[in-house]
Amino acid sequence: TSSLVWLRRDLRVFDHVALHQALQDSAVVHCVFVYDTTILDALPRRDRRVDFIHASIAEVAAELAELGGHLIVRHGDPATEIPALAAELGVGAVYCNHDYEPQALERDATVARTLRDAGRRFLSFKDQVIFEKSEVLSQTGGVFSVFTPYKNAWLKKLDADPSVLAPYHIEPHAARLAPPPSPAPALPTLAELGFEPSNLAELNIPTGMSGAARLFEDFLPRIAQYKDARDFPALKGPSYLSLHFRFGTLSVRHLVRTVRDVMARGAGGEGAPVWLAELIWREFYAMILFHNPHVVGGAFKPAYDAIQWETGPEADELFAAWCEGRTGYPLVDAAMAQLNQTGYMHNRLRMVTACFLIKDLGIDWRRGEAYFALHLNDFDLASNNGGWQWASSSGCDAQPYFRIFNPITQSQKFDASGKFIRRYLPQLKDLSDKEIHAPWLVPRMLPLDYPGPIVMHDEARKLTLERYEMVKKPG
Ligand code: FAD
Repeated sequence: TSSLVWLRRDLRVFDHVALHQALQDSAVVHCVFVYDTTILDALPRRDRRVDFIHASIAEVAAELAELGGHLIVRHGDPATEIPALAAELGVGAVYCNHDYEPQALERDATVARTLRDAGRRFLSFKDQVIFEKSEVLSQTGGVFSVFTPYKNAWLKKLDADPSVLAPYHIEPHAARLAPPPSPAPALPTLAELGFEPSNLAELNIPTGMSGAARLFEDFLPRIAQYKDARDFPALKGPSYLSLHFRFGTLSVRHLVRTVRDVMARGAGGEGAPVWLAELIWREFYAMILFHNPHVVGGAFKPAYDAIQWETGPEADELFAAWCEGRTGYPLVDAAMAQLNQTGYMHNRLRMVTACFLIKDLGIDWRRGEAYFALHLNDFDLASNNGGWQWASSSGCDAQPYFRIFNPITQSQKFDASGKFIRRYLPQLKDLSDKEIHAPWLVPRMLPLDYPGPIVMHDEARKLTLERYEMVKKPG
């Protein structure tokens, strides 16, 4: 029998569940990646994520060739491309790894149905996370909606059976990979896919399996300091691996195994368990999305859907100022500049900017969520939605509605010397470390090439408390 492995958000050729299983079960294994026009057609013609996928696919293709195999690349709607390719190759089954997003589940159901109607099988495996769906439940069998007990149960489950981290090797049966046709077709260029290069290369963002490995190697010696460094955007505190988590150029099992080894050697300090907890947040939000698809477009806590957000031209102008980083609050504006220029935003700043949009500008969190979805390199539906609903207080285990970040004190606390702000707002470079957090209070410097504050925080705070008043009421 022969089979087809369909790569999606698992762009690697090591420790890969679907590929491992297909190689075990079949005499001949083909591999395919489909540039999905149902997603790509809606994107701007310059998109760092498309560049990232394009570069990572080249690495997958090269690695498969090294093993004697070949990567087939298609450009179209996978719902028709996959069954058509399966028929063309005459395979008995299509293998892939689970995707938990509602649209992806729908797509996979369609593909599975079409394949089944043609007498072929569709097999999907857990690969993207350590524990999925209903694998981590409360003692009474309920789905968690609070993080800490979920995390404790997750850790307990892993301690009880660490074999879930065992690698899924490819090499033992690599000879079963279907060889390339002769002559092997060239991979499509970006231009052939209808895209222009973004600034990804200029930003030195490492791509593919090798890029993920390099970033992880760079991070490991810093992991012990993660707890102390991670909240300060001017420091190299986090791992910068999120883009690789998103596209599966790394193996989560490998990462968790390595971090546990570091901890077992006593080398992880206070940082390693905190970093591990972040990976569990990722799985928590994936689990929440799987069980609560209504969070796409709606509040996790439905009472919050009744909140009246600011609308109309004035709100549109406030929203545009937020998007373009001209709110007059330097930390918010520097953060938005980081997002717009690089596609990355530091986690602390994602919280600050999201909270500012919702609770200082009174704008619907869904507008911010959509902006992040378009601009974040690491955009992930579950984590992005979880982050936004945390900030809007409408999510599971969210920030309470009356907790409203003060953008000035956040700036004083997390970018005390203004180093991060100066990196993205060079026009403020001459302000002192003390002045830089609220330039409008520095009359001698005015007029700066920098806007005044678009709202006053204290007034906005009061309005927000009134706006949220309704969710306090029962029902
Ligand atoms: P590290 O600090 O090194 O963390 C390691 C990994 O843990 C990350 O790569 C990520 O996979 C995971 N992780 C860390 N923090 C979180 C978290 N709070 N929730 C879920 N997973 C987490 N993360 C995304 O991957 N995609 C998104 O679209 C996204 N949108 C967000 C929107 C908002 C409003 C907020 C507040 C957070 C969002 N996050 C998102 C979570 C977090 O900000 C990023 O994962 C993190 O900043 C990525 O940087 P890093 O890889 O250097 O993280």
